[in-house]
Amino acid sequence: MAKRDYYEVLGVERGAPEDEIKKAYRKYAMKHHPDRNKDNPGAEEQFKEGAEAAEVLMDAQKRQAYDQFGHEGVSSQFRGGGFQWSDFSHAGDFQDIFSNLDDIFGGGIFGDLFGGGGRRGGRRSSRGEDLKVAVALTLEEIAEGAQKTIKLSRLEGCETCDGSGAKAGSEPVTCTVCAGQGQVRQATRSLFGQFVNVTTCPECGGNVQVIREKCDDCGGQGRQKKQVSLSVNIPAGVAEGNYIPLRGQGNAGPNGAPAGDCMVFIEEAEHESFERHGNDIVYDLPISFSQAALGDDIEVPTLTGRVSMKIPTGTQSGRIFRMRGKGMPEVNGYGTGDQLVRVVVWTPTKVSKKAEELFRELAELESGKAPEGGKGFFDRVKEVLGG
Ligand SMILES: [Zn+2]
Ligand SMILES: [Zn+2]
Repeated sequence: MAKRDYYEVLGVERGAPEDEIKKAYRKYAMKHHPDRNKDNPGAEEQFKEGAEAAEVLMDAQKRQAYDQFGHEGVSSQFRGGGFQWSDFSHAGDFQDIFSNLDDIFGGGIFGDLFGGGGRRGGRRSSRGEDLKVAVALTLEEIAEGAQKTIKLSRLEGCETCDGSGAKAGSEPVTCTVCAGQGQVRQATRSLFGQFVNVTTCPECGGNVQVIREKCDDCGGQGRQKKQVSLSVNIPAGVAEGNYIPLRGQGNAGPNGAPAGDCMVFIEEAEHESFERHGNDIVYDLPISFSQAALGDDIEVPTLTGRVSMKIPTGTQSGRIFRMRGKGMPEVNGYGTGDQLVRVVVWTPTKVSKKAEELFRELAELESGKAPEGGKGFFDRVKEVLGG
């Protein structure tokens, strides 16, 4: 079954502000809540579909990628290549809806969505930095979609210490301040009674483990610079400034924390014959006097090869012919732009003896005499050009 449009799933307009999306999702989640749909076996899937839509549309970066590239643009941002419940980061915003779901889904699935982000015993330190790289593509490559290999230098887990940051023989030890919890509890008294604050452990920074002796090769960071090659699939129809996020392909996190992302920015190489205007391609076609006057069947280059085109009798210089569907495909896969062929009548700068004779003969005939100039003339040219 084809994936549904996220905006359609939640029933919101494409430009809807975030609070409207939030509201729409709340309504959706209440309606499709498995608790209320015990007799409907499809409800669980629908419930998940709504969460996926909300996850994407409530995140500015994911939403932009989706608006530009459709589902293809965001699937790589989910760890398993597709949305899993563990990708849902908004359960905390809808706790009233999600709080009892562990029982329904057999526990465990939602376990790590709650608790203020504190996964017991897990690493919570900050992930690696995101990286940006640019990849230049010709218009032909963009028209077809391309697979590109990009080279970049990034921080990867240190091989000497296996990412731990600790010197050989000096294994990292469990933090004693938080007893391996990554968090510490502080009780404070107030007028209203005792409150317990949970904060990140100041000793290990939430890492759970502390390093006594640092690895010499990485200085305790657990990561080193490496040159790598990445393969990236570029969908057809992308434009300058678009980017493709490669999840987990940025710098490795310090001390084994998850890696950041790598953003591949698209650059459009200048083309010697074509000019891109949105999804339309403009091509200037020089033709001779006789071709313009008598008409001709010719071949013009397009992004996907040569295509025959008819020059009608009496074609005016500057006239634009539209070749439907010969432009750039829409990046979301809906439709294709056109190629606009702008005819330029080429005046010869050198003529042979024979051609000169014929031109003189033609001049005497005066049948092809140009009309009067002035404003009226340009109005008539505009009519011809459809402007
Ligand atoms: Zn190391
Ligand atoms: Zn600690």
